[in-house]
Order: sequence, then structure tokens, then C-alpha cells
Amino acid sequence: MGAMNQTPVLQLVGVVLLMVGLGFYGAVIGRSPVLGLFGLLSCIGLLILYFFPKRCRYCASSQSYRRKECETCGAPV
Ligand SMILES: [Zn+2]
Repeated sequence: MGAMNQTPVLQLVGVVLLMVGLGFYGAVIGRSPVLGLFGLLSCIGLLILYFFPKRCRYCASSQSYRRKECETCGAPV
């Protein structure tokens, strides 16, 4: 009994919320909201997405996850 015995409904809600959040994050970094599926991997998915390369929304070139501006066109990423 205890934390290991959470109701499946609550776990499902948590996963869905995480997927929605990651989906928005995917859109923000110029990627597909389909990235929200990484939410199924829980913490590992979060980590993968954190280091996922960004993509410029204007010229679609890949950017390092650390960069704040596009290397090619200077637009914010
Ligand atoms: Zn660009």
C-alpha cells in the first residue's frame, strides 16, 4: 500500500498532462506537437526533449538547444 498503489486514473491524468505540456514545448521549439508522445516515457521523455535540437520557425534550420537566436537568420528560437 502507499505510493506504489496509486489509482490508474490519476497516473493516466498525469501522463496526459505531461504529453500536452511536451506537445506545447515541441511547438515552441519549432518542432511537431507530436513530440508530446515523449510524455509516455515520463522523466526520460522530458530529458530527451530538453536536449532535442530546436528548429527555426522562419528558415527551418536546426539550432543547438542552447542557442537563443537562429544562426542563419537571427530570429529568436
Ligand atoms: Zn532562422
